[in-house]
Amino acid sequence: MKRMNRREFVRAGAAGLLAGALGMLGCGGRQEPAAGGAPAVQTGKRYRWKMVTTWPPHFPVLGEGADLFARWVEEMSGGRIQIHVYGGGELVPALQVFDAVSQGLAEVGHGASYYWAGKVPAAQFFAAVPFGMNAQQMNAWLLSGGGLELWREIYQPFNLVPFLGGNTGVQMGGWFNKPINSIADFKGLKMRIPGLGGKVIARAGGSAVLSPGGEIFTNLERGVIDATEWIGPYHDYLMGFHKIARYYYYPGWHEPGTVTELIVNRAAFQSLSPDLQAIIHAAAERLNGWILAEFEAKNAEYLKKIQQESKVEIRRFPEDVLAQLKIYAREAIEELTAQDEQSRRVYQAFRAFQEKIKDWSDISERVYYQLLSG
Ligand code: CA
Repeated sequence: MKRMNRREFVRAGAAGLLAGALGMLGCGGRQEPAAGGAPAVQTGKRYRWKMVTTWPPHFPVLGEGADLFARWVEEMSGGRIQIHVYGGGELVPALQVFDAVSQGLAEVGHGASYYWAGKVPAAQFFAAVPFGMNAQQMNAWLLSGGGLELWREIYQPFNLVPFLGGNTGVQMGGWFNKPINSIADFKGLKMRIPGLGGKVIARAGGSAVLSPGGEIFTNLERGVIDATEWIGPYHDYLMGFHKIARYYYYPGWHEPGTVTELIVNRAAFQSLSPDLQAIIHAAAERLNGWILAEFEAKNAEYLKKIQQESKVEIRRFPEDVLAQLKIYAREAIEELTAQDEQSRRVYQAFRAFQEKIKDWSDISERVYYQLLSG
């Protein structure tokens, strides 16, 4: 598989990856669902599908995952479904993936549901919530705790069938040129951080700046911004932030396990025979597992490289800072859900599951990690 070099990576960032969850482009109107066609047995029928993504072409892990999904579907179906993958901007702009698949311009899309917050505010709860659930907990909620059913219901009017299509794992808190010793250090801080995380920074007295991916490095280097978040050690290393920033903070409280979504046009999905539908399910599930595994393995490798190759101080946010950010996060989410009934319903389900799984996570995952780090 073709890998991107650093220059391609930085340039590609400008094309859309995590360019800003709320920086939405113009949105079309709601689509009426197409008449549900009964899936006839169509053995031997061949399909040529288009897959649009919010990632630059072949983007590390995420774009590579989209390429693999297409390959797996073709392999499993013996060539009955062939999928051509388009990076963001190749067929439609990155932030029009939702509309393109909704309208049937493409049959499949790969992105993250918080990109559609401007159109469907409730959608972002299926991607990432500050101080929300991590990858393991999101998988549990969505796959076994009723979350996916809710997600399908929310996307139904848009003629879309959502699947889990990956997870970034816990992201990093970001790169800072000023130390964060107390919550007061956020006052006046200019940070590139999209979405709900940005609203939290604003509550702390900072300003959330939305720089396109391709401009973040220069803005941080020149002091146009004081801090930026991106993803984790692997992608951050490729951006070169360790060469210019002084501090690398953890954890990524704002994105504790961002789910990437695979969306399929409902009419296209229903036109498939049951065996081909099962192949789409299986390939999505494989993609979901592969992306998280790849993130974890690469982040581990590149954290070491950052530690060995740079003088960056890798620091944990102080406990009281995290506690205060958590309060601001709850306030920001409450403000959002007060304005939108659907968001309120989805967030209630999210919170209920988060509360339910907490006790179990505390005596299983948390204790086990503590044991290992001792
Ligand atoms: Ca991020």
